[in-house]
Amino acid sequence: MKKWGFFLFLLLCLSFVIVNRESSYQDNEEVQNDEKNNNDHLDNSETPESFRTIEITKEQVFQGNLLLVNTEYPVHQESIKSDVVNLFTHKELTMGYGLLDHEIKLSEDVAGKFSEMIAAAGEEGVRHFLITSGFRDFDEQSVLYQEMGSDYALPAGYSEHNLGLSLDAGSTQMKMDAAPEGKWIEKNAWKYGFILRYPKDKTEVTGIQYEPWHIRYVGFPHSAIMEEKNFALEEYLEFLKEQKSISTTIQGEKYEISYYPVTKDTTIHVPSNLRWELSGNNMDGVILTVFLGAAHTDRKEIRMAE
Ligand SMILES: [Zn+2]
Repeated sequence: MKKWGFFLFLLLCLSFVIVNRESSYQDNEEVQNDEKNNNDHLDNSETPESFRTIEITKEQVFQGNLLLVNTEYPVHQESIKSDVVNLFTHKELTMGYGLLDHEIKLSEDVAGKFSEMIAAAGEEGVRHFLITSGFRDFDEQSVLYQEMGSDYALPAGYSEHNLGLSLDAGSTQMKMDAAPEGKWIEKNAWKYGFILRYPKDKTEVTGIQYEPWHIRYVGFPHSAIMEEKNFALEEYLEFLKEQKSISTTIQGEKYEISYYPVTKDTTIHVPSNLRWELSGNNMDGVILTVFLGAAHTDRKEIRMAE
């Protein structure tokens, strides 16, 4: 029995040593991992993100949400949004607002964003919106121009409505410039990526009279920057061209926006681990928008506080 007891004691001792060794090995491993994490954090905050190179074709100058369309810069065939749908047959996109007729079309993506905006207005008690016009193809635009004249419509190819990014929205109650719907849009559209393309104080820049009903999608954060700086689309695109690259933080999110002129063999660097978007300006270049995520003041400080 004694022998067995001793053997058992020996076995216990041995297993204690093994367990201890293992746990200290794990500790070491954890320390090493921690160090590795620390390095990762330092890498993220002190060196640029990883990039890849993409080629930019001339067509890309004429595609995207930031295209400038006016009497100088017409709509190209490749500029037309590829996801244009008839809104009347897409009930899920038209909740909370009316359609003037059964033929109103719009980019599906833009209609989704518009619905989101209308739902937010509804929560604030503003709920009498009516879309009176959306996407028009060149033929429809041509008919409108002939019937209504140049005071009301633009020639085919020179209207934003030919893109699928713009719509006219009214109030079922009264004229848009007096309606709560118009006031709400003027104040809040930027939060949803929309702008009033022809504001009252920009008629000299746009060359178009004040149109409180004409809403254009440009996407966030561009709508927010334009709002903050009081830029019409013409002015904003010119500003980006001059600055070449800007960084901005909006509602706690960081963005980097860069302009690149496009020639025959243009290549640009895009981040391989972050969300980014590209749009032409319909003139001479493209705009790269990088979504950098939540803005931290200093990652090292955050680690030390842990
Ligand atoms: Zn319009």
